[in-house]
Amino acid sequence: MANRCMLCGRKIEPEEPKKLRPYVDEEDRPKKRPSMEVCTFCQAKLKHEADEAQKIPKPM
Ligand SMILES: [Zn+2]
Repeated sequence: MANRCMLCGRKIEPEEPKKLRPYVDEEDRPKKRPSMEVCTFCQAKLKHEADEAQKIPKPM
């Protein structure tokens, strides 16, 4: 399963726990899925932009 970033189209590496299990239990996995698939780079960018927008009032 390769997710792609909605913003830049980059491949998002799934964060898998580094635990080796003797059997695969899909239902045991946490179903935490973000509504938006965005890579860490764009996430940081968005966060930064949101931060800046909050800090600096738009000059109008
Ligand atoms: Zn991206």
